[in-house]
Amino acid sequence: MPTESTFLLAGLFLLLAAAGWALGRFGERDEFEEAPPPLNVDYLKGLNFLLNEQTDQALEHFLKMVRVDDKTIETHFALGSLFRRRGEVDRAIRIHQNIIARPDLAAEQRDQALFSLAKDYLRAGLLDRAENLFVRLAQGSRYQVEALEQLCRIFEQEREWQRAIESAEKLETLIGHSLALQIAHYYCELAEQSLASKDFGAARAFVKKAQSGRPRTQRGALTRARIARDTHDGKTALRLYNRILDENTYLITEALPALVAVHDVEGTTDQLEKSLRAHVEQNPAIRKEIAYTAIVNNIGGIPIVDECVEDYMLNEPTLTEFIDLQTVNNASEADRQAALDKVRTALSKLASTIPRYQCKECGFSSQKLLWQCPSCRDWETQRPFATVSFDSLLQRSGGM
Ligand SMILES: [Zn+2]
Repeated sequence: MPTESTFLLAGLFLLLAAAGWALGRFGERDEFEEAPPPLNVDYLKGLNFLLNEQTDQALEHFLKMVRVDDKTIETHFALGSLFRRRGEVDRAIRIHQNIIARPDLAAEQRDQALFSLAKDYLRAGLLDRAENLFVRLAQGSRYQVEALEQLCRIFEQEREWQRAIESAEKLETLIGHSLALQIAHYYCELAEQSLASKDFGAARAFVKKAQSGRPRTQRGALTRARIARDTHDGKTALRLYNRILDENTYLITEALPALVAVHDVEGTTDQLEKSLRAHVEQNPAIRKEIAYTAIVNNIGGIPIVDECVEDYMLNEPTLTEFIDLQTVNNASEADRQAALDKVRTALSKLASTIPRYQCKECGFSSQKLLWQCPSCRDWETQRPFATVSFDSLLQRSGGM
C-alpha cells in the first residue's frame, strides 16, 4: 500500500517536472540553446523509487535534486513539518538536518531549522537532543520564549527541578508575568526529593523558598507538615494540619487522614475528637468534607467523624433512595448501627474505585491528588469532588 508520504513526494516530483527542474535546468543555461536538456538522472531515480514505494530513497533523491536555497527553503520546511505531524519523525529530522547543512544559511533560517529539529527530537522522545537545541535557542533567538517553555516541560519530565527553576525565572522576565506558582511547585519537588534522602535541613530551606512567592502554593503547608512528621515533631505537624482545617481549604481531604495518623502515633486520639468538634462547631460547612474524606479513607471510631458520616448518609439525596430511613429510625439502636455500617462499608469500597480529584481546567480526573495535571500540564488545578458521584457509580454497578 502506498503511504501518504509516497503521494506527497509523488506530488512534489510532479511539481518539479512542471517547473523544469527535472529536465536538468539547475544552473546557468544558454538561453538560445535549442536542443532540449537531458532528463535529470536523480529525478528518474527518485521517480523509480517512488514507483517501488521506497519512500526513504525517493526522499534522498528529492533532497539531492532540490538544494536548499532562498526559493526552495519554505518547501523544505513545509515538507519537514508535514512529516513530523504525520509521525514520520525520522524523515522530518532528515529534512531539517539537510537545511542546517547548508553553509550560507541566514541566521534566522538556521534558528528556524534548529527549532524545527528540536521539535522533531521531542516528538521522537529524544529529550537530551531536544534539550541541547532548546538551550542553544534560549540563549538568544526569536524562539527564546518557546524554547524556555519547552525546556520547562523537559526538565519537569526529567525531574530536574533546579534547571526548571532557572528556565522559568528567565522565562518570566521575558514574558513579563509571574510564574511564581509554577516555581513554588518546583521548590516543593526539591523539598520532597531532599525529604526522601533525609536531608531535612535542605527540605526546610526549599519549602521556605516555595512559600516566598505570590501567589502562594497550598502545597507548602502540606510539605512542611510532612517534614515535621518525618522528623518526629508531632506537635508542629498537628499545628500545621489543624491550620489547614482552620483555613477550610480543599486540602482537608489530605490533612484529615494525616491528622488522624499523627494523633494515632502520639496516642492523643481524644484530643483529636476535641479539636475536630471545635472545628465543626466553628464551621459546620466542613461536616460534609469530613464525612466524605472519612468514607473514602475508611476513617472511623472517632465520635465526631462518625456523626458527620451518619449525617451525610442520611441526608445525601442519591443515598436516601437506597436507605430506608423509616426502618433505620424505627429499628433498635444495634440494628440501626448495623444497617448504617453496612452502607458505609459499601460506600468505602465503591469510593475507592472512582476518581477523587478532578482538574478544573481540563477535567482530567484521578484517584490521587496530582499537583501537576498530566493532561493540561497546569499546576495546582485539581480539586476534590465534593461528593462521591453515586449516581454514575450506581448506574455502573447496577444498584447496591
Ligand atoms: Zn488539566
